[in-house]
Amino acid sequence: MELLPCPFCGSSPVFPEAKHVLGTFYEGGCEDCGIPTISIQIIDCFDYPRDKIHDTWNEETLQYGIEYIEVARAKALTAWNSRMTYAPASTKCDKATQE
Ligand SMILES: [Zn+2]
Repeated sequence: MELLPCPFCGSSPVFPEAKHVLGTFYEGGCEDCGIPTISIQIIDCFDYPRDKIHDTWNEETLQYGIEYIEVARAKALTAWNSRMTYAPASTKCDKATQE
């Protein structure tokens, strides 16, 4: 998936591969200015019952199963690219003030 640049500084965002993600959150965003960040609680990507995902928690690596982190990563990428974009100033307003 091609990602939109950071809306604040124009840099390319960083969304780590699932195998590098530790803990219960998947996080990605702009590492240059650090302003826009996407943070998704991995377990929130799944409906109840959550037994399956709990069973994949590895106490040594502090990771859920890779397949679950991949789902959270996909949601984070989609969220990054689905932000609102602003259209250039409308010429309609210019005409209205001229009339
Ligand atoms: Zn930035």
